[in-house]
Amino acid sequence: MMDNGKIDGKPVTEEQLLALGYKKYYGKDMDIYYSKDVCRHVGNCVRGNPKVFEVGRRPWVIADNGEVDENIRVINTCPAGALKYIRPVLKLGYD
Ligand code: SF4
Repeated sequence: MMDNGKIDGKPVTEEQLLALGYKKYYGKDMDIYYSKDVCRHVGNCVRGNPKVFEVGRRPWVIADNGEVDENIRVINTCPAGALKYIRPVLKLGYD
């Protein structure tokens, strides 16, 4: 199982992901990041939760369509590391 909240064992930062070419998909409680260059089109994400990940929809990722824990579970099934997530501390408890 991947831990796609981390790179090299450390929690990823937004700066790192944007520099690597990931695109940010905002959510209320978490943000999801995606790199089309890293994606291997295995499809674990869309099979995991088609409400959150739907190819052909704009935006194709809608974090708020799923629960945070479930989103993290699905993101961690991405074998390529093309999906990453960040749960910004400031989003916890502030709505
Ligand atoms: S699981 Fe990862 S590699 Fe597979 S299609 Fe989704 S984003 Fe791409």
